[in-house]
Amino acid sequence: MPVSGEYFAVLDPATGETFAEAPDQQNDELDSAVGRAHDAWRCWRSDPEARVTALLAAADAVEAAGVEIAPLLTREQGKPLSESYAEIARTAARLRYFAELAPGAERIVDGRPVRSEIRWRPLGPVAAIVPWNFPLQLASAKFAPALAAGNTVVVKPSPFTPLATRLLGAVIATALPEDVLTIVTGREPLGARLASHPGIRHVTFTGSIPTGRAVAEAAAGSLARVTLELGGNDAAILLDDVDVEQIADRLFWAAFRNCGQVCMAVKRVYAPAGLYSDVVEALAERAKGAVVGAGLDPGTQLGPVNNPRQLARVEHYTARALADGARVVAGGHRLDRPGYFHAPTILADVPPDSPVVTEEQFGPVLPVLPYRSLDEAVESANDTGFGLGGSVWGTDLDQAEAVADRLECGTAWINHHAELSLAQPFAGIKESGVGFAGGPWGLYGNLRPFVVHRPEEA
Ligand code: NAD
Repeated sequence: MPVSGEYFAVLDPATGETFAEAPDQQNDELDSAVGRAHDAWRCWRSDPEARVTALLAAADAVEAAGVEIAPLLTREQGKPLSESYAEIARTAARLRYFAELAPGAERIVDGRPVRSEIRWRPLGPVAAIVPWNFPLQLASAKFAPALAAGNTVVVKPSPFTPLATRLLGAVIATALPEDVLTIVTGREPLGARLASHPGIRHVTFTGSIPTGRAVAEAAAGSLARVTLELGGNDAAILLDDVDVEQIADRLFWAAFRNCGQVCMAVKRVYAPAGLYSDVVEALAERAKGAVVGAGLDPGTQLGPVNNPRQLARVEHYTARALADGARVVAGGHRLDRPGYFHAPTILADVPPDSPVVTEEQFGPVLPVLPYRSLDEAVESANDTGFGLGGSVWGTDLDQAEAVADRLECGTAWINHHAELSLAQPFAGIKESGVGFAGGPWGLYGNLRPFVVHRPEEA
């Protein structure tokens, strides 16, 4: 979309320096984007077959542009290049998955002599507000189902990661009618304005719990539908029969992938007291061996933290844990180099009420806690306002599944964590979310039922 006026700086987290600028769009440009999304909706909603063709073409275009988008994403986000390519692959896969997931008409059968039919209808312009940890993957989790359902979409990325999303939007725009998908970038209050915009019929937001609350309040003015995917504090419970060496790599990366900046990362590990020191050692060994560096450097496994605010948060939680009596077994400090690098950190002997355990640190720090009984472990895992995911690790899969079944969260894994299928519902409970994304549930989250009753033919 055309841009007038101001720009804001975009930092490279691997250097801490500005490397580019993005448009700081204002209310008039936002109003224009929403107005044009509304106009474009009339045509987009009316031709489901054309939508399928366009979305499949968009998926091809995204893949073809991966080589341009991926380095830009790594530059502004910090993640290793291979992970940027993974975001692009996931975006294309999502466009294809939802393109082919058309809702059908459904008959209501209740014994009355009436032929009742549900015809699913789109809602109108959808606002998608996205954080900085998976800019493309999370944007596509919103726009792919919304577009497939026949809505138009205005996406607002985080001001920390606006550029790859802008480029993605330009690439997808080559395959879609004009104004069906628009990217707006800018600093606050742009997101607040979008969430409260009277022309928006569904606000789908991913981010922190406090901002999620503000978004829900903002959307209440227009009574738009609200979907919130919020923070997590996922626990991993290791069972007595776990093979520590066999699972240690997977468990470590479930906590540290994307530098721990994953809503569904393992953020607390509960290990049986008898295995505690083995688990701590195995994780510390991986933390010490992980290759930390700029995302564009080949061989990097762990990039920088995305931004200075987030780095300060990680340092704060670590310092507080040490003051509370925790012991650093690996890392424990930021790296002495430019940029926002923090050593992957394993904390042992952490008091269970230290904020690094009870809150979401969202960075490369992992507390490991011992437990004496399984009931105690399950209670500790569930004793939180968060409810995104959880996992259980052990050799006896039936026992592990029985424990997983007791976790209070949206998704539980056995011997894995945060592996999500495009076809599954994704829904945090408690303060981790409102509404559903993923699979057919994600599609219907962008549709409304319209029911037609007619008498049966005589
Ligand atoms: P954030 O809440 O600060 O920002 C998220 C988005 O909201 C950004 O685009 C931001 O610019 C925008 N925003 C800020 N203030 C706003 C307002 N008043 N109204 C509307 N929009 C506003 O979150 P963040 O720091 O970018 O991301 C980290 C958080 O996101 C973590 O808590 C993490 O757990 C969560 N997250 C959740 C999921 C999930 O699926 N549940 C996935 C990824 C990240």
